[in-house]
Amino acid sequence: MKTILEIQRLDRQIRALLREVDKCPASIDFKNYKKLLQEGRARFEQLESQANEIIKNYNIVSNKYSKYKGNSEIIRKRNVENINLDNISSLITDANGLVGELSEEHRRVEDLVRKSEEIVRKSAELSNRLTEAKARSGAIKAKIEAKKQEVAPKIAELEKKIRELEPKVEDKEKYEKYKEMKANGIFPVYVPLEENFCGGCKVELPLNFIERLKTKKMLPCEHCGRIIMLDK
Ligand SMILES: [Zn+2]
Repeated sequence: MKTILEIQRLDRQIRALLREVDKCPASIDFKNYKKLLQEGRARFEQLESQANEIIKNYNIVSNKYSKYKGNSEIIRKRNVENINLDNISSLITDANGLVGELSEEHRRVEDLVRKSEEIVRKSAELSNRLTEAKARSGAIKAKIEAKKQEVAPKIAELEKKIRELEPKVEDKEKYEKYKEMKANGIFPVYVPLEENFCGGCKVELPLNFIERLKTKKMLPCEHCGRIIMLDK
């Protein structure tokens, strides 16, 4: 067990070094860059669907205008002799209706133009931000790479030590369990009992668990699955 715990200690150092790379300013910059790209893509999609909506509305407005033009042609072509009082009043109603509809359409078109201008402006802004971020991404990646290179020999050394220790592991089954849990993202695998708490997830353990642990010396935590050891 001592050898497994020694390996776990070395693995912990490796993880700390990897975390150092992951938490370095360049890595954070890179994550922000990727987030910006994702946001940019989503924003472009949104702008595109807004533009489609505007085109749709424009077509509706344009159809209404054609209808109006058609109606006005009909009115214009009516022969003067056919016009009686009833005709005049219906013409006035028609004309009033058309004027109302047209001014409403005019307002809508203005609104569409304003929205289109806004979309163009926002697309340009976004495009500039993305170009800028892209230009910076090369330098960021280089910094991350440098950080990786910096920790790589340290990690290699620790891994070498682990390889040297592995043949000395007596309890192969426990070591297999260790490797399996570690591969599943559970780390550390073997944890001490801290008072009545799990040394991994810090959950308080029931008294009957502690009692069983006293006889078994080693038991998986009911909460996080890590192996709790009675002896440190
Ligand atoms: Zn636990």
